[in-house]
Amino acid sequence: MNVQTSTSKLIKGATGDWEVVIGLEVHAQVKSNAKLFSGAATAFGGEPNSHVSLIDAAMPGMLPVINEECVAQAVRTGLGLKAKINLRSVFDRKNYFYPDLPQGYQISQYKSPVVGEGEVAVDMPYGTVRVGIERLHLEQDAGKSLHDQHPSMSLVDLNRSGVGLMEIVSKPDLRSSEEAKACLAKLRAIMRYLGTCDGDMEKGNLRADVNVSVRRPGDPLGTRCEIKNINSIRFVGQAIESEARRQIEILEDGGAIEQETRLYDPGRNETRSMRNKEEAHDYRYFPDPDLLPLELAETYVEELRRSLPELPDDRKARFMSEFGLARYDAGVLVAEKESADFFEAVVARADGTLRDAKLAANWVLNELFGRLNREGLPITASPVSAEKLGAILDLMTEGAISGKIAKELFEIVWAEGGEPRAIVEARGLKQVTDTSAIEKLVDDVIAAHPDKVRQARTKPAMIGWFVGQVMKTSGGKANPQAVNELLKAKLDI
Ligand code: ADP
Ligand code: MG
Repeated sequence: MNVQTSTSKLIKGATGDWEVVIGLEVHAQVKSNAKLFSGAATAFGGEPNSHVSLIDAAMPGMLPVINEECVAQAVRTGLGLKAKINLRSVFDRKNYFYPDLPQGYQISQYKSPVVGEGEVAVDMPYGTVRVGIERLHLEQDAGKSLHDQHPSMSLVDLNRSGVGLMEIVSKPDLRSSEEAKACLAKLRAIMRYLGTCDGDMEKGNLRADVNVSVRRPGDPLGTRCEIKNINSIRFVGQAIESEARRQIEILEDGGAIEQETRLYDPGRNETRSMRNKEEAHDYRYFPDPDLLPLELAETYVEELRRSLPELPDDRKARFMSEFGLARYDAGVLVAEKESADFFEAVVARADGTLRDAKLAANWVLNELFGRLNREGLPITASPVSAEKLGAILDLMTEGAISGKIAKELFEIVWAEGGEPRAIVEARGLKQVTDTSAIEKLVDDVIAAHPDKVRQARTKPAMIGWFVGQVMKTSGGKANPQAVNELLKAKLDI
């Protein structure tokens, strides 16, 4: 390992450097139409208690039936994490009381999860960090208690009760809030590429518990605190920073860290104690007698493996080898499936031929992303479609418009819509390549500035100024190369 990069991640305390150690437990809602053990819909935003079967409401005598699609989604995710798929796994009851948990237990997997050890590659500016995955298991989500809907009562909405979740547990391999954020973003991207979780953190479809400890570099692992249920990547970073500072202060004052479960309060940017750390035996885990162990055939797993889509790492490698993109640019494009798709749609012409991929990448990364960021729009809502951006690039490479006009054209299409080629025709934006027309402009500029002409004879770099003047009088439409050549000839430089 590069010593310098590891040093840069350390936090300076009053008594020296500290290293932060982080492990993530990510709860990802399985993308499926029905719940994990019932046929009720998983759709978001229905009337409270409108997607609840008798199983989800824990009516006596109801038996859970495993939803095969949820199992397939968990296996796909495991394969995407290069993980071991366990052909035999067991569902357990995790017993606890909560008003939004009518069964009195959550069906989860404890000792035998469906997915074992794997790995996720996290790209950082200083290199790729390989973060170990401990396991992935399937479990039920709970319902939701609503405390602000009624003046004197708390209400319970069971729509989420029984929805399938994948809990992905990382090893304590992360060493900074930046790495933890990048790791969560990568897990999210992998699942979105796979189509196994929509990754919508605002809707709570992806949440993270963040385990944080600190230690002196080289020491064994310190005592950790677990910060529960964080629902944005930014908050993950902030929670880690504030929790690490809190622990460092305690240790530097001679205190000890108590292992506990904490909550992050974004308003105060601090974590606060929620409860002492529960232990596994508190939950009285035991195999759910209503469910047989889950047995998967090797051939079933192989079939799922063969049908996996291209994942972000592979796509990035392909963008580099096939299109010659720089590693950084390829990484930014593949980070969201939608932007990678958009880029490829810009590159591909309708007739099957390809456009200049580096030019396309530049335009997507700079013009388009810049514009989208300013408006706070996702790429799926871009007013300039991939096809139209492709048409703008074609006009530029054909020499019909200059780069400068291309940017204007992009703005016009963004604001007003329309077909780029038709706009160029209608508004007379076509580049003037007709030499006699350009010659007239060049002559006019030369005639108007005899002093500059004299200067240019001894200072050839002045030509840039002349090119600028001619371009200006042409309204940006003169072909800059033709202007340059004519000027060189006429100024004799
Ligand atoms: P539990 O199920 O009780 O939460 P686990 O052993 O499954 O405990 O660990 C949960 C998470 O805590 C994992 O993501 C793991 O990487 C992380 N973790 C374990 N030890 C530490 C530590 N000392 N500092 C930070 N994270 C840790
Ligand atoms: Mg935990």
